[in-house]
Amino acid sequence: MKEVLYGKEKLIPVVDSVDVLVVGGGPGGLGASVMAAQNNCKTLLAERFGSLGGMAFHGEVNPFMYNHLDKKSLDRPVFISWCEKMVQYYSPAELERVPFDATYGSTLLSKDFAMLAMEDLVLESNCRILFHHVLADVIKEGDTIRYAVFQTKSGLCAVESKIFIDSTGDGDLAYLAGCNYEMGNQQGNCQPMSSCFKMSHIDMTRIPDKKTINELFEKAKAADEIHCPRENVLYFTAINENTLHFNTTRIVKKSAVNARDLSEAEIEGRRQIREFIRFFRKWVPGFENASLHSIASTVGVRESRRIRGKVYQTVEDFHNCAKYPDGIARCNYPIDIHNPDGAGCVCVKIPKTEYYEIRYGALLPENCPNLLMGCRAISVDHALHSSIRVMPPMCSIGQAAGMGAALAVKNGVYPSEIDGKDVRNELIKRGAYL
Ligand SMILES: Cc1cc2nc3c(=O)[nH]c(=O)nc-3n(C[C@H](O)[C@H](O)[C@H](O)COP(=O)(O)OP(=O)(O)OC[C@H]3O[C@@H](n4cnc5c(N)ncnc54)[C@H](O)[C@@H]3O)c2cc1C
Repeated sequence: MKEVLYGKEKLIPVVDSVDVLVVGGGPGGLGASVMAAQNNCKTLLAERFGSLGGMAFHGEVNPFMYNHLDKKSLDRPVFISWCEKMVQYYSPAELERVPFDATYGSTLLSKDFAMLAMEDLVLESNCRILFHHVLADVIKEGDTIRYAVFQTKSGLCAVESKIFIDSTGDGDLAYLAGCNYEMGNQQGNCQPMSSCFKMSHIDMTRIPDKKTINELFEKAKAADEIHCPRENVLYFTAINENTLHFNTTRIVKKSAVNARDLSEAEIEGRRQIREFIRFFRKWVPGFENASLHSIASTVGVRESRRIRGKVYQTVEDFHNCAKYPDGIARCNYPIDIHNPDGAGCVCVKIPKTEYYEIRYGALLPENCPNLLMGCRAISVDHALHSSIRVMPPMCSIGQAAGMGAALAVKNGVYPSEIDGKDVRNELIKRGAYL
């Protein structure tokens, strides 16, 4: 097997050589890998865990937030294909509870079926998958990445690729390649992390309205029984009967890209979940016999690095509903900032008949010509990030990165040499709503 020199004296095996390597199998990685593979690139998707899904599966996030123009999903083709595949797994009773409309798109999600559907789509596109490969480093030649280095059960190994797509959510690949980045708000604090969970066996006929639940939450806080900086209880319907989904823990002032902070965040998230289970059973009618249905297997990260790109988009684009010739994805999801420091959320909307566009240049890191960002870590400011980060537009950003990579491979050039207008046109041919 071919080997490559890693560091001054270590030779490591080169386990694969591809046109496009996508690192990270969340919504962004899904869009990127499927679009690159469908456009004739030899594509490999590497993921640190044993299944795809990213926050949709490992973070147990629900539902797919809306990103619509007049009730029509702005995210196609990959996002809608993902939803369609997912709902094929639903039982007739689940489909009756959660009817799916392919025009509207966004829906409640089963994390397990979402994960299975993702794997279906990726494998059907002829993209291969490497699970249990944690990106650990890169080997560069000048500004260009030649190999991604992975930590695996069999030790370090390398994958050679012409083009790399960073879909790690945190911009790990770009960071390891030495790209510039920003974090958080003006104080450097990112949106809080949350550990999601679901409770089942709830007597739905007896649960009070949201206002009453929030009053009980305040009383439990005053009684020193619950310690969570959130201002209210955030919950959603789940596809399972008599089950609710909670996105209500809040872990503030921890960095998702600081290993010790991240470990502490896991413990703090589950500490809050223990309190919430006790709170619901003791204080909230209908929950007396409620069971813990599931807990996210990893803490949910809303925000971390944002890699500086050739184009930097700000919240002004949101307010101005800015459109660009090289716009590669459309978004009208609100500015949605969970307070990085404590209680409260900021939510600002644009009209339902409007949207703004994300530009191809925001996916191109400044100083690394064969790298594309296909995840939430694109080149936008803190406020705009809070809008682009939800799963449907994330899938579209990923698919644009995949298309940029495919055009670069086809033309034998770097993604940074591809005109964003061409990426947009090719996406339209593939069914994108642009
Ligand atoms: C608590 C919470 C609630 C949310 N609520 C909603 C909601 O209701 N609706 C909605 O639409 N969106 C919601 N979001 C936002 C959304 O889930 C994320 O922004 C979105 O999943 C980001 O997609 P991504 O592909 O960029 O990253 P991710 O989903 O994080 O996927 C990144 C993937 O890369 C892998 N990876 C990371 N590092 C490495 C590495 N070093 N090596 C190999 N693999 C790696 C990860 O395992 C993961 O599979 C929420 C987010 C959070 C945290």
